[in-house]
Amino acid sequence: MKKILFARPLPQEVTRALVGCDVTVRAETAPLGADELRAALRDYDAVMPTLGDGFTAEVFADVPEPRCKLLANFGVGYNHIDVEAARAAGVAVTNTPGAVTDATADIAMTLMLMSARRAGEGERLVRSGAWEGWHPTQMLGLHLTGKKVGIVGMGRIGQAIAQRCHFGFGMEVSYFNRSAKDLAFPAARVESLAALAGKVDVLVVAVPGGSETRHMIDAQVLAAMQPHARLVNIARGDVVQEAALIDALQAGQIGGAGLDVYEFEPQVPQALRDLENVVLLPHLGTSAREVRVDMGLMVVANLQAFIEGKPLPNKV
Ligand code: NAP
Repeated sequence: MKKILFARPLPQEVTRALVGCDVTVRAETAPLGADELRAALRDYDAVMPTLGDGFTAEVFADVPEPRCKLLANFGVGYNHIDVEAARAAGVAVTNTPGAVTDATADIAMTLMLMSARRAGEGERLVRSGAWEGWHPTQMLGLHLTGKKVGIVGMGRIGQAIAQRCHFGFGMEVSYFNRSAKDLAFPAARVESLAALAGKVDVLVVAVPGGSETRHMIDAQVLAAMQPHARLVNIARGDVVQEAALIDALQAGQIGGAGLDVYEFEPQVPQALRDLENVVLLPHLGTSAREVRVDMGLMVVANLQAFIEGKPLPNKV
């Protein structure tokens, strides 16, 4: 009987759905430690890892000929797994595309609205007891309806954000993407990231993490943004050069930012936490119960296919 490791607790309906194997559910919610990563490859036939579980080239190098033949990742982003090293070691990798799309787009909209309309700041004001009542020039923010949005990474999530912006908020959509897209709504492709940054009121980051996109949003891109413009990142923390973002926010070079992810997650620099013009969420992109169950059931479908020797539905 195949031995399967779930590296985190999941909703019960997910773990119960997997049949015909010997399942271990790790109780801790923190990422796998150095020894656990190696033991996972050595002692199990398949593993469900997730965000923060660093299956790096070094880890694969330490476990030649691993028993593990599948890393069935919980999540669409898999930049914590060195896919090349996995392939070389004979380990397949799957992910959970689609299940996360709408929920993550919803969090992008939450951040756009919170940043534009200063909702975090306003909530802190009310909670502090210092609010003195409505007046016509109190906490004036940026009106979002009808404004220009720039999407960096027009994939599944990028398109779901763009749709919400176009159909829900009458916004003009432009995008920067590796390839041109055939889209079901009007959107202009811009060839230069800096040019896109310079023309929009909100720049939203939705590319995958990894070496190709690391620090894609750097000081130069931030400098191109207009002083009232907002940056929203729901992708991966290190796509944005966090130190440069802090400088831009401190100097008032951009209007504000909304972040769901951080370069050195879960560490969030004190400098960011001290700023009023940034909204900080604890990586809530997919954190809705139904969504986490759907993601889990996609993992189970991949594990079940592996157990039954069938083609993997979501191989990356
Ligand atoms: P996706 O469908 O693969 O979309 C990614 C898009 O980025 C694609 O359109 C791709 O271009 C583009 N892209 C990739 N590298 C690029 C580059 N170097 N320059 C320009 N464009 C590039 O992925 P998705 O499902 O939308 O997910 C996107 C990412 O969101 C995930 O990888 C994950 O890290 C993150 N995420 C975060 C949360 C959260 O909780 N905050 C939740 C879910 C996902 P092509 O079309 O040419 O390939």
